[in-house]
Amino acid sequence: MASRKLLLLPGDGIGPEAMAEVRKLVALMNERFGAGFETEEGLVGGSAYDAHGQAVSEADMAKAMAADAVLFGAVGGPKWADVPYEVRPEAGLLRLRKDLELFANLRPAICYPALAAASSLRQEVVEGLDILIVRELTGGVYFGEPKEIIDLGNGQKRGIDTQVYDTYEIERICGVAFELARTRRNKVCSMEKHNVMKSGVLWKEVATATHKARYSDVELTHMLADAGGMQLVRWPKQFDVIVTDNLFGDMLSDVAAMLTGSLGMLPSASLGAPDAKTGKRKALYEPVHGSAPDIAGKGIANPIAMIASFAMCLRYSFGMIEEADRLEAAIAAVLADGLRTADIAAPGAQTIGTTAMGDAIAEKFLALSAA
Ligand code: NAD
Repeated sequence: MASRKLLLLPGDGIGPEAMAEVRKLVALMNERFGAGFETEEGLVGGSAYDAHGQAVSEADMAKAMAADAVLFGAVGGPKWADVPYEVRPEAGLLRLRKDLELFANLRPAICYPALAAASSLRQEVVEGLDILIVRELTGGVYFGEPKEIIDLGNGQKRGIDTQVYDTYEIERICGVAFELARTRRNKVCSMEKHNVMKSGVLWKEVATATHKARYSDVELTHMLADAGGMQLVRWPKQFDVIVTDNLFGDMLSDVAAMLTGSLGMLPSASLGAPDAKTGKRKALYEPVHGSAPDIAGKGIANPIAMIASFAMCLRYSFGMIEEADRLEAAIAAVLADGLRTADIAAPGAQTIGTTAMGDAIAEKFLALSAA
């Protein structure tokens, strides 16, 4: 079997604690199922700054470029609050996203039945929810030029950001959304603001043309992004895949995420374009949460977001669909058994730590694999 090259970048705070649980799963899949994962390790964020004075070293960047997939923990913490801006912990993640050209950010919002009652929305609104937000990650208003604050000379200043999208950027992100929809319930809703933004007019036009040219078997609808936010909290189950730009995606994916509960549960993937020769995409998988300095080192972090990110890696980088399904089923099963880390436990309920949760998921995964 061809080897599967994984780079693990645990990072700071609870990153290494959560990554330890993925390392166990990787070893188990190699030993029991001959999965052929070859892992390398590297430093990112504050830990890389401490070791190399950079948020990610050139050597680790080279490992990331050579890997089939990167698993990223979390970066940051008060210890590095005053380091120079260019080498702040987040710069490591931004460099990885930029150099690997990860333009598609995938954020699933899945509501595990066992946690439906814990949502801030009514149980029937979220139970069984399974939607995927596809956010454009490398363009739009976060990167457009000019981007500056200018002094108007009359005691006033002007802050300028520029929302800008070219046809190819919209085409490729919509292409990712349509392709993913084909593996799910075959529906895409494209969100923009064509009523007030030129970039929205172009977005809608290109989404429609891309659909017509290559993906007419998928159902495409359009929604204004503000209405989309409203519909996400009113009846989220109407959606399958939502595709949207960088800014709207930033907000809508956070809204969708909180439909399902704790930050400790939420995985994400960022994908690049397929390589012309090999067809493989560069990819980075990471939990949505940060380094949680308030609980770091206590052994109580929820490893599920990190483990679910690994499940996405199995699915999207290695085409290991059955294994991904089984790992996600193992997570659902331990939750159904009532196991909870502190962040997802009802007040006063019994809780388990990071290692015990990781072990329980690994055991369930094995049991499901044997079944
Ligand atoms: P955070 O996500 O680290 O924590 C927010 C709250 O959620 C905290 O109370 C934390 O204890 C809790 N939490 C988060 N993940 C959890 C888990 N797996 N299990 C249990 N509880 C969990 O966000 P923050 O506190 O705003 O930021 C802390 C640091 O992380 C900052 O330095 C920030 O810059 C950084 N950060 C990094 C990333 C990243 O690496 N991608 C993302 C967000 C924030």
